[in-house]
Amino acid sequence: MEKQRKRRCRVVLVTCPFQGHINPMLQLGTVLYSNGYSITVAHTKSNSINPSNYPNFYFLLIPDGLNECQYSSGDEIAEILRLNDNCKITFQECLAQFMEQLKAQDEMISCIIYDEILYFAESVANRLELPSIILRPAGANFFISRSALLQFKDGGNLSSKGLESEDTVPNFHPLRFKDLPLSKFGSLETMSQLLDNASHTRSSSAVIFNTMDFLEQPSLAKIEQRCQVPLFCIGPLYKFAPALSSSLLKEDISCITWLDKQTKNSVIYVSLGSLTLIDESELAEMAWGLANSKQPFLWVVRPGSVCGSDWLESLPEGFKESIGERGCIVKWAPQKEVLAHGSVGGFWSHCGWNSTLESISEGVPMICRPNSGDQKVNARYLSHVWKVGLELENEVQRGEVERAVRRLMVDKKGMEMRDRAKDLKEKTELCIGKGGSSYNSLNELLKLISSF
Ligand code: UDP
Repeated sequence: MEKQRKRRCRVVLVTCPFQGHINPMLQLGTVLYSNGYSITVAHTKSNSINPSNYPNFYFLLIPDGLNECQYSSGDEIAEILRLNDNCKITFQECLAQFMEQLKAQDEMISCIIYDEILYFAESVANRLELPSIILRPAGANFFISRSALLQFKDGGNLSSKGLESEDTVPNFHPLRFKDLPLSKFGSLETMSQLLDNASHTRSSSAVIFNTMDFLEQPSLAKIEQRCQVPLFCIGPLYKFAPALSSSLLKEDISCITWLDKQTKNSVIYVSLGSLTLIDESELAEMAWGLANSKQPFLWVVRPGSVCGSDWLESLPEGFKESIGERGCIVKWAPQKEVLAHGSVGGFWSHCGWNSTLESISEGVPMICRPNSGDQKVNARYLSHVWKVGLELENEVQRGEVERAVRRLMVDKKGMEMRDRAKDLKEKTELCIGKGGSSYNSLNELLKLISSF
């Protein structure tokens, strides 16, 4: 009865067109749906999700006015800034129309939940007199590190040389200047403009973080002090929506059969996420390092991720023969299932926030090879605070790779990291279980939404 009543209440999710942003938003949508809300996913044209995979959700296309050139300019930050300009009016128009339809069906919108970087949604919510909530899909440490970046930039103290410095950022331990979350997908100017806009809560009613209290307590406490609205830490969101796969690429599940044949904790899983690009020489060094480590490996090489190749054409000659059955290479993996598999004992990652949370939650220690933005912050915390990661800092060379893999997978230091990772996994389980902080926070959020 209660669910039927709620189905007449709809939550509109405004999703950002990147895999790492889509996942937590759809996970949240799934949780809300299972709690009785109807869900509308508002999205733009690029990287749009396949609606047929979500028969219970309604999809609303926001005309974004971007042309093909702008989509493929390679400057993702500029693309997002443009979306924010372009979608204010178009989203308002299509949402107002949609609300008319809902009214005729005796339905209403309870609130809009938007990805923090799509802040146009907040001004639309205001004009249509709807409550709004911000979802911050990345971690609290990243949020705090952004303020350091903006602070130094505004003070005129950031040169590109300064951003390579090994010095610790005053008051931002353990971050060094080189860990500040500058993105490779835009300039310092556009990046700080976007971060600045995304950091305000404006008139939104609450903020959701996909994180866990115990993991980022000091940063969360600082954020809470400055934040005027309730903060909900509901991570890892995927644990509340375990059946959902929101991959934009097709997952190759054959790698699970391959994992089934490997021994416990023996496999190093390698994936650099949905956006990282590498060149052919890095691919070759990774390949020989993995081969020479003599450990079994499962490697995701995303099509188009190696500059100048479609997929595996630039793998070095003799590599495939040298690894035989010891390596499995796929285009895209069911990552959460892979990390939860007993054969996987380590994860070489670019340290995107979802990958970081997934690895921690499954108790898998990491080799950290960050590329851009928040990944550098996450890598620093993984290696220097949570102590479950080894940083691979310099140019990728086969000898370094071989040593790092062996250190993580077979040396004493790796075993100690695995023990700490198992400890974090247990803490995560407590956090999402009945009475745990994420569990409680989710219930508080549900209460807030039902009060609108
Ligand atoms: N992922 C996946 N299969 C892969 C590689 C990645 O399902 O082969 C998922 C992964 O589980 C994570 C997301 O893609 O949820 C990547 O997000 P993350 O924040 O780690 O990095 P990004 O891709 O945004 O850089």
